[in-house]
Amino acid sequence: MERTLSIIKPDAVAKNIIGKIYSRFEEAGFRIIASKMIHLDNDEAGGFYAVHKDRPFYGELLEFMTSGPIIVQVLEGEDVVAKHREIMGDTNPKEANSGTIRADFARSLDENTVHGSDSLENAVIEIKYFFGKNDICSRTR
Ligand code: UDP
Repeated sequence: MERTLSIIKPDAVAKNIIGKIYSRFEEAGFRIIASKMIHLDNDEAGGFYAVHKDRPFYGELLEFMTSGPIIVQVLEGEDVVAKHREIMGDTNPKEANSGTIRADFARSLDENTVHGSDSLENAVIEIKYFFGKNDICSRTR
């Protein structure tokens, strides 16, 4: 059983499609074991995306991620890190497979609707960034 961090980004919250995205998680068999809505400030968004701090899109990424509230959740399931990345689709929605969340809902590379941890190792770090131990209600505990 694995866990991964998922974020429903500001574009999706603004478009009122939180439930549609949660349905995708449930249809894929993932359990949502922690969830909250937050509005990141610049430091919080910058800390989360620190790995990208030297990339040319970093400023715009922070501007976007602080532009409105997001929903952050921990998903649990077998092989959930890879399976979640699969149902999210490619970073660039124009290259995402049809039927994926980004192909169906995302407008552009920068406003791409969802985030998902890209490895088990990063999932542990990213989950800790947003949730304490007592915030997580694992079904397998
Ligand atoms: N991003 C962007 N421009 C780029 C590459 C990435 O705005 O040229 C944004 C995009 O929102 C992406 C995020 O930065 O989701 C993190 O990039 P990463 O390569 O980690 O993609 P992801 O893991 O989100 O698919």
